[in-house]
Amino acid sequence: MNFSDRISPTVAAMPTSGIRRFFDIVAEMKGVVSLGVGEPDFVTPWHIRESCVYGLQRGYTAYTSNYGLLELRQEIAKLFQNQHDVTYDPRQEILITVGVSQALDLAMRAILSPGEEVLIPEPCYVSYQACVTLAGGTPVPVPTHIENEFRVTVQQLEKLVTPRTKALLIGYPNNPTGAIMPRPELEALAAFAVKHDLIVISDEIYGDLTYDGEHTCFASLPGMRDRTILLNGFSKAYAMTGWRIGYALSNPVFIGAMTKIHQYTMLCAPVTAQVAAIEALRNGERSMRKMVAEYNNRRRLMLEGLRSMGLECFEPKGAFYIFPSIKSTGLSSLEFAEQLLQEQKVALVPGSAFGECGEGYVRCSYATSTENLIEALKRISSFIKKFQ
Ligand code: PLP
Repeated sequence: MNFSDRISPTVAAMPTSGIRRFFDIVAEMKGVVSLGVGEPDFVTPWHIRESCVYGLQRGYTAYTSNYGLLELRQEIAKLFQNQHDVTYDPRQEILITVGVSQALDLAMRAILSPGEEVLIPEPCYVSYQACVTLAGGTPVPVPTHIENEFRVTVQQLEKLVTPRTKALLIGYPNNPTGAIMPRPELEALAAFAVKHDLIVISDEIYGDLTYDGEHTCFASLPGMRDRTILLNGFSKAYAMTGWRIGYALSNPVFIGAMTKIHQYTMLCAPVTAQVAAIEALRNGERSMRKMVAEYNNRRRLMLEGLRSMGLECFEPKGAFYIFPSIKSTGLSSLEFAEQLLQEQKVALVPGSAFGECGEGYVRCSYATSTENLIEALKRISSFIKKFQ
């Protein structure tokens, strides 16, 4: 049997994630300082881990409702009411998922018919395009640029919207640029969504990781709650990547459709992790704020360090990534990343992994210790000297 012939053409045509490929190489090397993975270096705060242990002791070992534990949904509803003044009914407007990753997949599969288009500002998280494609849709990249602080504008979107456009998929604060969208610009996107009757999928997984004022929740904008599928989770803000808990918030019809797929393909998110997520929301804010303050110190260190080497560097306002331009070296972003790894043993991610307009940049994650960051800056500085 020719195994390759038996793979679905959609999957066969899909490139493997640029990040994964790169980190397979890194895994084989010794002495590497990695600014590669978008994963907190903190361990989940102890009180959250402990609540999981107690949960097991109390016998939380069975399936939950397909929607997730009602207690967790109630905590999420409370959070959004208090933080963003937007109301969700925990019984039918909140779905607990296996990370934002699953929520994203469910959202796309629930709304897309073959050939329908989704506008996606780039550079963006590597899964966005793939999720749209796997759901039978067509991703339509919308390039953003440093000159406009990597924000997407309505003028750009107007040029690419067609009668087939079904949705707009945004992720701010942004991975990989650290860009945010201030409220007036989000309001302009909201008006665009109404004009073209689009669904907005807003991935706000980095919403708590903002360093320059408050994050605006897209669903909290007037008229946007029911049009928006809001995605969020615990991986980044609470250092809970391995627990695999996320959630989707929207009107009962969208959440109901997503839950239908979820019940046949996943049943429910892991109960132990749901118990821990309740504790994170009830008592985790202080530890979360402490981690965010630490990321902010590291952000300043990286910004200053990269700029002082002469690299053009956009100031990230959220998430835990910084996205310097490496155009002055004359190398492509992949060449830069490969040569830096071979010569100085620093791992970062080529900007091209996040879309064509990411070419000429590299993504550095500062979710690693200050000590590692100082060492990485020293090595990057030695590396780029030869191009100056
Ligand atoms: N969305 C964005 C923008 C991300 O950067 C990531 C992970 O890096 C995810 C979603 C996936 O998060 P989760 O761990 O909740 O699946």
